[in-house]
Amino acid sequence: MDDGWERVASPLRAAFVNLARMKITEEFVEMMICPACQSKVRLKEDGSAIKCRSCRRVYPIEDDMPSMMPDKAIIEDEEPTAAGRPPA
Ligand SMILES: [Zn+2]
Repeated sequence: MDDGWERVASPLRAAFVNLARMKITEEFVEMMICPACQSKVRLKEDGSAIKCRSCRRVYPIEDDMPSMMPDKAIIEDEEPTAAGRPPA
């Protein structure tokens, strides 16, 4: 039996699952701005929160939804940059 269709369908199915879960990607985060200072934000390296590039507020991600509310944010010091990595 030819399993060619299954080879094509499996990655497609995986893509749809990711879409359905609304996974927060860096591209998605790039479209958002900090509600406190209107600067660009970025995804934290461990994916647990969204961090403002300017005022360093950190917005938690809860149940795959970012809480972009200034009163939920905590202000975090700069993360130490790992050796050999360009600063974000
Ligand atoms: Zn900000």
